[in-house]
Amino acid sequence: MRIAEASIRELNNRLDAVAVVAEYVKLEKRSGRYWGACPFHHEKTPSFTVDPDRKLFYCFGCNKGGTVIDFVMEMDKLSYPEAVVLIAKKSGVELIYEGGGGERAERAGPSRKDDLKGLYKRIAGSFHYMLMETAEGDAAKRYVRDRGVSPAMMERFRLGYAPRDRSWLYRFLSGKGYSAELLAASGLFSRNYPQSPLFSSRLMFPVTDRNGEVIAFGGRLLDGEGAKYLNSPETEIYRKGETLFALDGALPEIRASKTVYLAEGYMDVIALHQAEVTNAVAPLGTAFTESQAKLLKRWADTVCLVFDADDAGQNAMVKAILVCRKNGLAVRAALPSRALARENAAGFAGNAAPKDSADILKNFGPDLLKKCVKNTILDFDYLVERARSGYNMASPEGKAGAALFLFPWAETANSDIAREACLDQIADVIGAGREDLRADFRRYARDAAGGVRYGDNAGGAAGNVGAGRPVETNYELFLLAAVFVNHRLYAKFRSLLPMDELEDPGAKELYIALEEWWRNDAAEAETGTEPPESAGLPRELLDRIGSVSLRNYVLEQHARGAFSGNPGTLMADGVRKVREASLVRRQKEIVIELRTQRGEGVMVPGRRSLADLLAEKLHLDEELKKLKEKGA
Ligand code: ZN
Repeated sequence: MRIAEASIRELNNRLDAVAVVAEYVKLEKRSGRYWGACPFHHEKTPSFTVDPDRKLFYCFGCNKGGTVIDFVMEMDKLSYPEAVVLIAKKSGVELIYEGGGGERAERAGPSRKDDLKGLYKRIAGSFHYMLMETAEGDAAKRYVRDRGVSPAMMERFRLGYAPRDRSWLYRFLSGKGYSAELLAASGLFSRNYPQSPLFSSRLMFPVTDRNGEVIAFGGRLLDGEGAKYLNSPETEIYRKGETLFALDGALPEIRASKTVYLAEGYMDVIALHQAEVTNAVAPLGTAFTESQAKLLKRWADTVCLVFDADDAGQNAMVKAILVCRKNGLAVRAALPSRALARENAAGFAGNAAPKDSADILKNFGPDLLKKCVKNTILDFDYLVERARSGYNMASPEGKAGAALFLFPWAETANSDIAREACLDQIADVIGAGREDLRADFRRYARDAAGGVRYGDNAGGAAGNVGAGRPVETNYELFLLAAVFVNHRLYAKFRSLLPMDELEDPGAKELYIALEEWWRNDAAEAETGTEPPESAGLPRELLDRIGSVSLRNYVLEQHARGAFSGNPGTLMADGVRKVREASLVRRQKEIVIELRTQRGEGVMVPGRRSLADLLAEKLHLDEELKKLKEKGA
């Protein structure tokens, strides 16, 4: 079922562009528009802008731009209709489908993704019921309680239990009418044995998307054989790299504090939330990835890493520091076990050293966990500590080893100045000469296979639409671009200025795009009504510009605020200027023709008579005079 064009138009007029984009990028209001760090390329200073009226975005850094719908498509990797449906849901606009019918019509042809989400929602509910209410779930519930997890957290995270009976899940779901085909695509069953569930006799952790919808599971083995933790495979609705455990619940606090706590395991995250560190998330059974860092960068400036105190955890923490820094996030290391040792030296003596946040919650309770985890140090100080414990910095070899250990950190600096400062810090810390250390670093940077090359990581060309040669501005182009972004003026504009008065090819292309759109798509063409003041720029209009550089020109001029004056005045002034230029051009042509005819002294057949030409020149003089008077 196709979504009706009129419905999309209405959505584009009603949606709150800033609210939609703010779910992905932190935005700040400055001089009438909204600015943020571009999600499509690496940057420190915001060059990404959103215009709430025209519902457009544009990045001055990488020239990426378009409508808010384009933005959501790109960020969430959605098709056009999927993005429209998502934005409509968030904006509370009911979509109308062709042939009539509202949301009900949507249900008549729901997407597979919706089916899968429905399936996950149902099964998460069943698992939760089994944990909380059935005798079989008792052991699992006891385990969770013994870890010090409160009933409130069990509810909030919708913890569940997958029963031991391996035939139950398939029987249950096919009994509810789910097709074998959908179940095979669900990621809940073995690929080779389609009726055999991945999870049985496990404590279940639902994994949710940003909107709180369950899209996958992690399962912890309680007894018997098998991997301790098992995670859902990727499916049509679940991409590990683009999801983080507990992100939906953590987002409000991440947004508010611009800080996120990154832990290693599900139990740690739950422990942290119970300790009121509600901005805690974890990767999903894999190492922390670049795309997860980019995801966090949308809302956070700083990541506090809370990894396990053992070697594996601490090594993972070093890697996570680099991933964060490469993506422009400041990093701090939380070392709760150590903080605890200081806090609680006496009580601690009897117990084994706690390995992670979940252990601290279990043995010392949420208050102490909160206190210990809030105690963080700078990533550099943490790395230096690690270097000191790994290398004997009194020896030359130890210094060289420590330098090599710290170089990747310096390499993640996103400017030459920052990098030089990092290198100085390293030199001072290990007690090496600054120049010697720089020479070593240059060698290291050259040799580092596959590493970020020295001086080459500032731009980051990710997602740059081939911009082509930049368009040089002129008043015709400027006028057409102004009308383009104020497309509601076009019906009037086309009556004021016929296209043949234009010279610039780019301006003509914009004129044609507008005219074709107006004839084919524009609502006012059918109904004679103008779209409202805050009409978003229709995507189908923007898409009619064939040239990428021309498209970028329009978006860039607009993002610069070039058209921020009264659009009606802007248009009237522009039209006058173009007409004036066109008249002057014609005047010159006539003058040349008059001269030629006088010089030749003969009448050439087919040529206009002198009288004619003179009459036209007089008329042009009049017109120009009128135009100038109007302009004054
Ligand atoms: Zn950009």
